[in-house]
Amino acid sequence: MIILVKKNAEKRQVDNLLAWLKAHKIDPHVSVGAQETLIGCVGDVSHLDIDLVSALDVVESVQRIQDPFKAANRKFHPEDTIVDCSGPTIGGGHFLVIAGPCSVESEEQVIGIAKAVKAAGATLLRGGAFKPRTSPYSFQGLGAEGLKMLIAAKRETGLPIVTELMNSAHLDLFNDVDVIQIGARNMQNFDLLKEVGHHTRKPILLKRGLSGTLQELLMSAEYIMASGNPNVMLCERGIRTFETATRNTIDLTVVPILHRLTHLPVVVDPSHATGVAKLVHPVAAAATAIGADALIIEVHNDPPHAKCDGAQSQTPEMFAETMELVRKLRPLAIR
Ligand code: PEP
Ligand code: MN
Repeated sequence: MIILVKKNAEKRQVDNLLAWLKAHKIDPHVSVGAQETLIGCVGDVSHLDIDLVSALDVVESVQRIQDPFKAANRKFHPEDTIVDCSGPTIGGGHFLVIAGPCSVESEEQVIGIAKAVKAAGATLLRGGAFKPRTSPYSFQGLGAEGLKMLIAAKRETGLPIVTELMNSAHLDLFNDVDVIQIGARNMQNFDLLKEVGHHTRKPILLKRGLSGTLQELLMSAEYIMASGNPNVMLCERGIRTFETATRNTIDLTVVPILHRLTHLPVVVDPSHATGVAKLVHPVAAAATAIGADALIIEVHNDPPHAKCDGAQSQTPEMFAETMELVRKLRPLAIR
């Protein structure tokens, strides 16, 4: 961190600032120039409130030269993290596709879809049991019963399962779940992030918040990792913008940016990003080409009658076509 001192600062004020920094275990290096005085701060500045330092009387501006995230930072961990999802792996050149319904609706439905997506090449099954819905009057998911149905589909097909956790009190129900999803709406539910850091080593699929910046996404991953769970995957699922043609706006540039900033695998969700089943195919192709480590795609046997997100759900036939294209593009992917 570099502090630029105000031009009219008195020596007494600068001395007070130096003493304050030392009290915070920072080793300040002062360089007095003809035009300005700079203080280079050596030491762990991650605990300093940068806004508070900026607001001090004597301070003109503050520049952070270190990223505020450590565990997720590629600078401190140059190798790609490979996350083991109970067999299938993501990251470090390992690519996979997660597919399944938005919500588990019945055992028959989820087993049928699981078989279809497996036949097309998916290696993980998704399905929501606890659903974060905008309206309290919408289908809220089958809860614990839905989880049992998803586990039955895992038993039947051998596909590891991915499902969303909304409340840490439900963690005990998730013993047979392979990957825990933290949804977009909970990206900054810091207590929940700490809980999945402390109480499990299961892989966490962390979705980007509706208006979450990349820095915020990385800081949320940092919460999980700093709490003890290093198995985190980041998921771009579209962000909220002024555009209304699609449900969200896909931000694919984050894939190469995240690969530079972090060693964690990056997953793209073309279903929630677009909200339109026909757009899932081209966006899945683009996400693969730009170097995503995995895709998560919603597939439903009967989209018009889906209890949740039917408009963006591919049929098993559409999904099989997407898988075929993704397989062709994967060797050409940028990395
Ligand atoms: C989902 O995966 O069904 C979901 C609700 O996703 P998101 O949190 O990205 O909206
Ligand atoms: Mn959904």
